[in-house]
Amino acid sequence: MDRQAFVELKAGGKLPSPSGVALRILDLTRQEQASVQDLARVVQADPALSGRLIKFANSAMAGPRRPVAAVSDAIRLLGIGTVRQLALGFSVLGQNRTGACKVFDYSGFWSRSLASAIAANALCLRTRTAPADEAFTCGLLARIGTLALATLYPERYGEVLQRTDDLREREREIFDTDHAELTAALLEDWMLPRLFVGAVFHHEDPQHSGNPEGSREGTLCHLIALAVGIGTYCGSDDGARRVQAADLIFQAARIGIDADALATLTDQIVVEWREWARILEVQASSVPSFASVTTAPPPVVTVSAEPPSSGAPGEIHIPKTDGEPLRVLVVDDDTSIRSLVELVLTERGHIVRTARNGQEALKLAMLDRSQMIVSDWVMPELDGIGLCRALRATDEGRQMYFLLLTVLEKEDHLVEAFEAGVDDFVTKPFSPRVLTARLRAGERMLRLREESQRDSQNLRRFATELAVANRRLRQAALTDPLTSLPNRRYAMERLEQEWGASSRNQRPLTVMMIDIDRFKAVNDTHGHDVGDQVLRQVALSLRKAARTEDVICRLGGEEFLVISPDTAAVAGQRLGDRLRHAIGGAPLNLGTLQYPVTVAIGVAERTPQMTHHDALLKAADEALYQGKREGGNRTRVAGGAASAAATPAG
Ligand code: GH3
Ligand code: MG
Ligand code: MG
Repeated sequence: MDRQAFVELKAGGKLPSPSGVALRILDLTRQEQASVQDLARVVQADPALSGRLIKFANSAMAGPRRPVAAVSDAIRLLGIGTVRQLALGFSVLGQNRTGACKVFDYSGFWSRSLASAIAANALCLRTRTAPADEAFTCGLLARIGTLALATLYPERYGEVLQRTDDLREREREIFDTDHAELTAALLEDWMLPRLFVGAVFHHEDPQHSGNPEGSREGTLCHLIALAVGIGTYCGSDDGARRVQAADLIFQAARIGIDADALATLTDQIVVEWREWARILEVQASSVPSFASVTTAPPPVVTVSAEPPSSGAPGEIHIPKTDGEPLRVLVVDDDTSIRSLVELVLTERGHIVRTARNGQEALKLAMLDRSQMIVSDWVMPELDGIGLCRALRATDEGRQMYFLLLTVLEKEDHLVEAFEAGVDDFVTKPFSPRVLTARLRAGERMLRLREESQRDSQNLRRFATELAVANRRLRQAALTDPLTSLPNRRYAMERLEQEWGASSRNQRPLTVMMIDIDRFKAVNDTHGHDVGDQVLRQVALSLRKAARTEDVICRLGGEEFLVISPDTAAVAGQRLGDRLRHAIGGAPLNLGTLQYPVTVAIGVAERTPQMTHHDALLKAADEALYQGKREGGNRTRVAGGAASAAATPAG
């Protein structure tokens, strides 16, 4: 629409417009030097807007940011550009909740638009196609042109809306403009970024936007289309959502979002939508999870018992299938062939759906998870070979049995068909008997495949269970049952690893041998059970007092080993003393009697002379026995230089 026409419309004063506060914000931010303080002052004149801006700044939609409580902080965080857009969006919504057009569903419009806004935001956050904060407002206002037409021409637009033919064409005929043009003109007038205005303008027909595929503009256009699609999906009823979901999957694939990611994203969008609907006082019904919508069983198909126009199937006996009914999709642009194939298949007991061209079939096949496709070759939109190729490009589609109906039986044609991935073909015209025979082959093949899949599924489950059992066994094999500490076997494996790491990184490595003093006496005096209790107690004290990087193991009997990576002897001795005090500070409680538990500790750091980790253990062991000889309850460090005086625990 040309500028002059828009100016005239605007002069009429009936176009959707923002509130006075939002207009002042737009005005203020048009000036280059608008300051945050100035803007905050204007925003604060509208408490609802203030609250919503703060809420937005603190929501997941604005990405990870520190929480804010003041309008000025929200402005600083979001940026002046985003604030102007949000103010605009929120206020256009607030000012145009109802209107004179009786047919136009105002509350449904805002409900869907809000979902589109959140979707556009989420999609931009994910794909980084454009700033996500700005995408929110563009999503919200992406279809404002329809509301504008409803406001400008309540009566006549009501009539247009009630017709089922192409909406934009009809609008142009009557109003000399359409909602897409009007939307773009309004967004331009409100000074939204050009990139977004273009994407919004073309989003209903992204293929013809003239943007090169893969360009930023092109991607944003698909993104807005998907966001608006999600908005419609959110605002629809359960019945309509199934088919819409299939459309969304295709649209999402265009911007590199696969079906699983889309499912997660849509569910998140729904949650945020309902939350924001509450804040903005917009309606939002509950929506089942995307996965449950797409995997719901297809609606029961009632097949007309009408006899097909050619042949007389009443005279032919079509035997029932031997196995489970299959979900079969019949694709042909010729109604009579479609119903003949449909009839044969239903007679055999299968569940049949039909499509008129490849494009329609592609969606239905994915949606229904069809097991068999019986398709014509030459069709409008997308032909049978194209359909087959498209299906074979997907995991799900590769599993489908593809039977091609064709009049093209030249060798070259058939080679092309098989190369595209069809499983079998039937030449037209065909009799129900021949079709039945070919169907049988397909059924058999699908059954075999299913059996082998079941087998391989069982195998996978078995393998998983085995892996879990093995992990448990290994865990048990490396753990000491009494103290739950890693055992000797683990200790040796781990020491070897740490030895290797210390060689590679040229970092120090220290180990510590710990032996309980006069432990035999505990057993002899109080019994083996009490001895066990002491061992558990010591293990607990060691665990509590050690650092996270220390590895504590029970080597056997009343001997423990601590491996301390990246630790030198001096720090090792400090740690040893700490461990010793922790053990000494937790005497065994025997009713009225407190039995003191002490240990001797031998510390050794790896030296350049050591060629194997056994040498390190040996050095620690020697230090330990020196400590024992000196009466126990002390820490001893191997090697003269680092050796410190014994420090008996108090
Ligand atoms: P020292 O001060 O020289 O270290 O003397 P000790 O008595 O602590 O050392 P010794 O090696 O002579 O005795 C270790 C005792 O530990 C012998 C054994 O019966 C006991 N023991 C080994 N494993 C266990 C166990 O799992 N539970 C219990 N209660 N005792 C154990
Ligand atoms: Mg001992
Ligand atoms: Mg011992």
